[in-house]
Amino acid sequence: MINSVRLVKNFVEIAQIESESFKEKKLAQLIINKMAHMGVDVRVDFAQEQVGSNTGNVVIRLPGKKSAPTLLFLAHMDTVSPGAGVQPVIDNGVIRSGGDTILGADDKAGIAAILEAIQILRDEHIGHGNIVIIFTVAEEKGSLGAKNLDYGALKVDYTFVLDGDGPVGNIITKTSSQSIIRAKFIGKAAHAGISPELGADTIQAAAKAISKMKLGKVDEETTANIGVVKGGTSFNIIPAVTYVEGEARSFSAEKLKTQIEHMDNCFNEGAREFNVKVEVKVKSGFTAYNLESSDKVVSIASAAIKNIGLNPELVASRGGSDANVLNEKGISAVNLGIGMENPHSRDESIAVEQLELLTKVLLEIIKIES
Ligand SMILES: [Zn+2]
Repeated sequence: MINSVRLVKNFVEIAQIESESFKEKKLAQLIINKMAHMGVDVRVDFAQEQVGSNTGNVVIRLPGKKSAPTLLFLAHMDTVSPGAGVQPVIDNGVIRSGGDTILGADDKAGIAAILEAIQILRDEHIGHGNIVIIFTVAEEKGSLGAKNLDYGALKVDYTFVLDGDGPVGNIITKTSSQSIIRAKFIGKAAHAGISPELGADTIQAAAKAISKMKLGKVDEETTANIGVVKGGTSFNIIPAVTYVEGEARSFSAEKLKTQIEHMDNCFNEGAREFNVKVEVKVKSGFTAYNLESSDKVVSIASAAIKNIGLNPELVASRGGSDANVLNEKGISAVNLGIGMENPHSRDESIAVEQLELLTKVLLEIIKIES
């Protein structure tokens, strides 16, 4: 049975540990200690060499019946900023951040639910198939931990990623693809008062480019954003270099391509108008996946959600997660709603009830496939 007090205590303990991307080691160590205490096989992989985190991904194995499929449960250890000094407060059954930080329910709610489920499996001697649990690093930086898992050694049948928007009961069966676009404008510095005509102004070029761009909700399937502009060195110098970073997402690969081409064209037009150079680089952030209700991984999740008395909702999300990487690698993975609200903000929260329901869904998935 779920021990709600223990579950909340674990969540609060985990939330208080700073684990912004690339600094997940303290949290990894806490998880390792907890697993060692329970006598569970826990290892750290070598992803850190590629990722640049201070630890690798944490991989836990719970061996079980060989006749049952191998299940993988996955959550990420890293958080966005500001994630240092989190002081969770519980008010009316809802956990929030008391300070001026995120809460980190994204994705520590997933971790806490998995730890509670492991504890219950152990305490109650519940039979199960082979279970693999992975806590990844640097998900928020483009699923870098997931991209560097040891796929040769990872033999799993169905993967459940606990990192989804919306309440427990949501099954994210479809996501958009994301491309990241970066532009570096290179002009010429000059004294802004004495000889501005000798300079080539990159801030104006970037501003012009951005002003021409279709951004925000471009159409029903597509969004675009410019999220970073950095340029210039001083108020009295014509700015010689300006960096711009943005992204586009779409459920349609074709529309994504069109939007990225449009942004690239705008960068080039802006540069031409102000006589500066621009280097544009585009890379894929994550690739869409599209699962059907008949796909086994979806039907298992649906059955588990029904069994605990909730209504499974198959939803599409513009958000990416480690599930996108796994599907791209040929591993059938679905992302489940974990009940977090307003992630990536200081208003982030999660209801204790959602943490409990999430744990119940996990246990039910394990029971169905044992
Ligand atoms: Zn997340």
